[in-house]
Amino acid sequence: MVGVGANSMDFVYRLPAYPTPAGPLSKLRIHDHERSPGGQTATALSACAALGLRTAYVGTISNDANGALVRDTLVGRRIDVARAIAREGANPYAVILVADEERHHENDDPAGAGQPTGERIVLWDRPPDMMLAPDDLPADLGSLARLMHVDDVDIDAAIAAGRAGCAAGVHVTSDIERARPRTDALIASVTVPIFAERVPHELTGERDIERALRMLRGRHPGRLCVTLGAQGAVMLDGDRYIRQPAFPVHAIDTTGAGDVFRAGFIYALLRGDRPEDILRFACAAAAVSCTRRGAIASVPALDEVNQLLGR
Ligand code: ADP
Repeated sequence: MVGVGANSMDFVYRLPAYPTPAGPLSKLRIHDHERSPGGQTATALSACAALGLRTAYVGTISNDANGALVRDTLVGRRIDVARAIAREGANPYAVILVADEERHHENDDPAGAGQPTGERIVLWDRPPDMMLAPDDLPADLGSLARLMHVDDVDIDAAIAAGRAGCAAGVHVTSDIERARPRTDALIASVTVPIFAERVPHELTGERDIERALRMLRGRHPGRLCVTLGAQGAVMLDGDRYIRQPAFPVHAIDTTGAGDVFRAGFIYALLRGDRPEDILRFACAAAAVSCTRRGAIASVPALDEVNQLLGR
């Protein structure tokens, strides 16, 4: 499969709690920190590679030190980077804050008391120089692979790539994280829109996810999927609404879970699984990644996903 989109260098800081601008949580000691490669498409590709798929990356990588580490990481994971586009300037990066300690504040959900949550705060920057434009895409993009995956970071490039994939008759999966003016065009240029939780509401005004997806059915005839964090994921397949709860794991860091979910989805789709089995496999892959730190560093191997599935 070929992935078109973003990579990032994540600077991960582990804190005793989430910071607040005033009071005792306004100054926190950093437990530990690390540099950990990630970014939506780079993580999804790394997970596809770990599951055993042949993968290629199309996107910009800076020739600064962060970009070099991203490139080395992708190469080390046997991802073909021959079509990656080298740029001058600062590679996209993110500062990720993860609270290590157990929840113990009064206003926390009592059901979650005593449990680490694995949730995180992401602060990011991506210089305009790193933008991937439609003209940057390789001419043979549509015919490179059986499946193309795009994210919505550089949406015009994603739309052009998706159209090339659709014209070539291959699956085009996607990571649609925000509703923007061009999002409808992106949806129309992929075969499988996979939305982040808030996007169906942003696109339709409808808060109920099932009703929102049934409204979106008018805009797209294919499988419509939404990831719901610790609630799992749902899919509208034709007029059949399928729910998959998350696998109960000890989540310590959910960074990259959505990307690993998409990789699991891609793997099971290419294997020819039924829609409910695709969702189940994708949630299992994502759940394993939540038990480990990092984005690319947390991607599971096939046997680890199968083990969680009891296979
Ligand atoms: P993103 O990482 O893009 O924010 P989500 O938070 O929706 O995406 O998570 C993607 C998938 O990861 C979910 O559909 C679910 O299968 C899995 N997941 C997320 N959080 C947990 C958790 N706490 N326990 C088990 N699985 C989880």
